[in-house]
Amino acid sequence: MARPLPEILPVPWPAGLPAPPTHTEEAIVRAARLLADGGLVAIPTETVYGLAANALDADAIDRVFAAKGRPAGNPLIVHVSDIAMARTLAADWPTAAERIVSSLWPGPVTVIVPRSPRVPNAVTAGGPTVALRCPEHPLARRLIATLGRPLAAPSANRSTQLSPTTAGHVLDSLGNRVDLILDGGPCGRGIESTVVDCTTDPPCILRPGPISRAELEAVLGGPVVAALPGNVDAETMPARSPGQLARHYAPKTPLELSAAAAERVATLLEAGKRIAWLTVATDAPQVRQLAASRDLLVVPMPTDPAAFAASLYAMLHAVDRRSLDAIIVDTPPDTDAWRAVADRLRRAAKA
Ligand code: AMP
Ligand code: MG
Repeated sequence: MARPLPEILPVPWPAGLPAPPTHTEEAIVRAARLLADGGLVAIPTETVYGLAANALDADAIDRVFAAKGRPAGNPLIVHVSDIAMARTLAADWPTAAERIVSSLWPGPVTVIVPRSPRVPNAVTAGGPTVALRCPEHPLARRLIATLGRPLAAPSANRSTQLSPTTAGHVLDSLGNRVDLILDGGPCGRGIESTVVDCTTDPPCILRPGPISRAELEAVLGGPVVAALPGNVDAETMPARSPGQLARHYAPKTPLELSAAAAERVATLLEAGKRIAWLTVATDAPQVRQLAASRDLLVVPMPTDPAAFAASLYAMLHAVDRRSLDAIIVDTPPDTDAWRAVADRLRRAAKA
């Protein structure tokens, strides 16, 4: 008999309440029990929804890779409830890691440090380092503290697909491959954490994210380098730079970045294509003129990069359901503030 779809438990926690409401606390306790038994629970975080498993349970970790269809060479981020828990998972604690986490945790930044032997091999993809993050989302931290164990939690979607920013996205992508979904509403940041390798000097950004290079340099009091844009495929992927899979975060509809989007849109419409155009320039006369076409869906996007990031995956999920021929997105500005959005769009555009 087919496995049933997972239950989706709402877990509201109104801002300002020091402890969650009773039904949220009950859901956390249920989730913690499932995790202690080796189950998989999708959880809200401030970045995207995570597919969580007890990070110290090698069998549960195998289930995460199977549920996602994730290549074994792509390691998982381990989520902790505080800095003390993080240090139990590290063989060494570089000064750079200490500076980053003491200023920016809880928050959307992941540090790579030498791993402790306590961390199962599968979590680190056999590598000598482990990725650690303490989420800003109170629900995630409360769950980890209740379990008393760290949670390995990659994004709660099938490998290479768009990351989920709502409980509904998780259900659509994973279905009965997950045991339980905690619904904390839409994710605030909407894109994956910044990943910083703290085992090199200077530290290196392996994946741009909500915390910018400038913010990292400010807390480190020194330079940070950025890894070259990824062009690695699953077979040749070095264990050190797994977030660099060239195609990732991709909708099913072909996505194209265009620096001259209005012309590109016009050309595609003339060729009889049905398209969506994600643009910040909704007031431009060219856009208004093209928007009259029945075959074009104009999707207005925020002009602020953080707000753009927060709605990007939700917009792509929504557009993807319409089975259009293409999604056109304006090429974002080449600035630090747009780095993370530009990175995700480039990977989404990779055919
Ligand atoms: P996801 O869980 O899909 O958000 O992806 C997790 C990402 O974390 C990987 O793709 C890498 O970018 C990064 N990561 C996890 N562990 C390591 C590690 N030991 N070394 C370098 N990067 C890592
Ligand atoms: Mg992912």
